[in-house]
Amino acid sequence: MTQDRRRKAYLVGGGIASFAAAVYLIRDGGMAGEDIFVLEESKVLGGSLDGAGNADQGYVIRGGRMLTYEAYSCTFDLLASIPSLSDPDTSVSDEIHVFNEEHRSHAQARLMRNREKVDVSTLSLTNRDRLDMVKLMLASEETLGRTRIEDHFAPEFFKTNFWLMWCTTFAFQPWHGAVECKRYMLRFIQEFPRLATLGGVKRTPYNQYDSIVAPVTRWLKARDVRFELDTRVTDLDFVHGAKGQAVERIHCISGDKTAEIIVKPDDLVFVTNGSMTAGSRLGSMTVPATLGSAADGGAWTLWETLAQKHPDFGNPHAFYGNVAESKWLSFTVTLRDPAFFAAMEAFSGNKAGTGALVTFTDSNWLMSVVLAHQPHFINQPSDSFVFWGYGLFPEEKGNFVGKKMADCTGADILAELRGHLPFDAQASLNDATSNCIPCMMPFITAEFMPRVAGDRPPVRPTGTSNLAFIGQFCEMEDDVVFTVEYSVRSAQTAVYSLLNLDRPVPALYKGQHDPRVLLAAFEAMMR
Ligand SMILES: Cc1cc2nc3c(=O)[nH]c(=O)nc-3n(C[C@H](O)[C@H](O)[C@H](O)COP(=O)(O)OP(=O)(O)OC[C@H]3O[C@@H](n4cnc5c(N)ncnc54)[C@H](O)[C@@H]3O)c2cc1C
Repeated sequence: MTQDRRRKAYLVGGGIASFAAAVYLIRDGGMAGEDIFVLEESKVLGGSLDGAGNADQGYVIRGGRMLTYEAYSCTFDLLASIPSLSDPDTSVSDEIHVFNEEHRSHAQARLMRNREKVDVSTLSLTNRDRLDMVKLMLASEETLGRTRIEDHFAPEFFKTNFWLMWCTTFAFQPWHGAVECKRYMLRFIQEFPRLATLGGVKRTPYNQYDSIVAPVTRWLKARDVRFELDTRVTDLDFVHGAKGQAVERIHCISGDKTAEIIVKPDDLVFVTNGSMTAGSRLGSMTVPATLGSAADGGAWTLWETLAQKHPDFGNPHAFYGNVAESKWLSFTVTLRDPAFFAAMEAFSGNKAGTGALVTFTDSNWLMSVVLAHQPHFINQPSDSFVFWGYGLFPEEKGNFVGKKMADCTGADILAELRGHLPFDAQASLNDATSNCIPCMMPFITAEFMPRVAGDRPPVRPTGTSNLAFIGQFCEMEDDVVFTVEYSVRSAQTAVYSLLNLDRPVPALYKGQHDPRVLLAAFEAMMR
């Protein structure tokens, strides 16, 4: 590095992966915040960890995050360094711990059928299912290749309590990659005994924008990290240097102007390649959410452009190329009447915030709803209530509205939900006091699409000297995508590697190596 110029770091994307990279560059790498640039194409920070709106126009969260203490070691390491918004002496990690002590997940109405609770004391697996699960867990990723989950199980497996709880907790479809399902079964094997209650699930006090993105943003801004919003990165130029290929230029569109950033060999570039929420679009009570495409935004186009330049940069088409199999629809409902929450709490036996997920197994959409602890937004007035739901099969016609979920307005979705409820919800979930906002996400499970080694670039691509890929579409051994943890771990790995820091990234929790965890999982499978 020259003496008159300090190293700069450019972070493409303003989601939790880039945020984590920025924190680690400062906290562990000793970089100054003013030398770190976050380039984000939207006008809002946080990426998929969104949470916006107000009680009058309706709140929106595209999703709600479940965390666990065992599997989220990097995330809690990150959040332990960030003061909470409400108390500068408490970290966000501690705030989450305290909240979960007071509001423990213990679902008592996890699955519903014919408007009644399903007995989930058994996972209802057959011996063949158990054997197939063990075979999948033991299979090598090379052998599994691009096979799908459905290639490894009998059709009846997909009707078991295990699968119905598993697929709706993690958003798996039978056609998703077997490799990802195998990794999940191992990574979350400690959850098998508590799958029915979701007892291992930890929540943030508010939505993840308010509870995670806002405090991390404040921490980074206090250290003068530069946030360049409305800035889409379109390409990177490389030069061959002594240490391999180095990024020498970043091409962007900032507002409506093209711009270039010159990158020196000692500067660092972190790219969040791909995004599960790219192309997501909102509807309203009267308008369905339309379907976006890979051309919406720079997430897929940048990765595709880079992949053409270097064989080690992966194969993005494997992930974004089959929208029919990667999309689903979520919805956020804002209520001005407490009656619906009261009725749900009475039938489920769960106070809002402790029930995790209620899944209607006979819903053609395989619809689930979650009542978060209230308020779910920092600015939420006490006479409003917010819940979230989703359907795994948006192309199916509803049981009650007779329309494909994808074609439904918010009002249609509420009508369908009313039909599945075990109480008369006409009064409490009516169109006058409810605002349901649908959100179509074409790539929400793109990270679960069948893939083989090489489809995802490594965090540090071979032959490059100043570049790292971070987020959900880079490759890290054994860890599982569709998690905040994966994005944070990739960022921590990238920073420590690019800065040559002699610090370990927190180890992956591997419950399968603990005989007590294995025994408990086995007992659960036998129930
Ligand atoms: C509905 C839903 C439910 C979820 N449930 C859970 C859960 O229960 N538990 C859990 O751990 N995780 C869950 N997740 C996943 C978790 O939210 C994500 O894995 C994580 O937020 C991804 O963060 P990221 O920074 O890697 O990527 P993203 O959040 O996708 O951020 C990428 C950012 O980069 C920007 N960008 C992309 N390309 C460009 C470009 N070329 N130029 C400039 N900017 C660009 C995008 O605009 C975006 O802001 C869920 C996600 C959703 C959507």
